[in-house]
Amino acid sequence: MHEMSIALSIVEAIVAKAREEGAAKVSGVDLLIGKLAGIEPESLKFCFAAAAKGTLAEHALITVEEPEGVGECGECGKRFPVNFYYAECPQCRSLRIKIISGEEFLIQSITIEEKGE
Ligand SMILES: [Zn+2]
Repeated sequence: MHEMSIALSIVEAIVAKAREEGAAKVSGVDLLIGKLAGIEPESLKFCFAAAAKGTLAEHALITVEEPEGVGECGECGKRFPVNFYYAECPQCRSLRIKIISGEEFLIQSITIEEKGE
């Protein structure tokens, strides 16, 4: 499963970061997943819970921000919402569309708890 391997790499990254900071645990993770990133947030959260079991991130709360897809026409420069990679300019019907937003996939921030709290 696609989301499972993503979840595993997120867990690996945040656990490494938490260790580096000397944290007792990771309490929250903020993700940015564009609507065109090809990742299903609900599925990812589910996989995350499984992937994080037994790690510092086991009880982390996942927050996902999902930027809308935006395309820009390579012919006339018009910007418009895009729901899929195959997009057509609503103004000039060109297919030369550049995706300018919606493909993001980032760990924006993590919240950690210090030891001894
Ligand atoms: Zn156009």
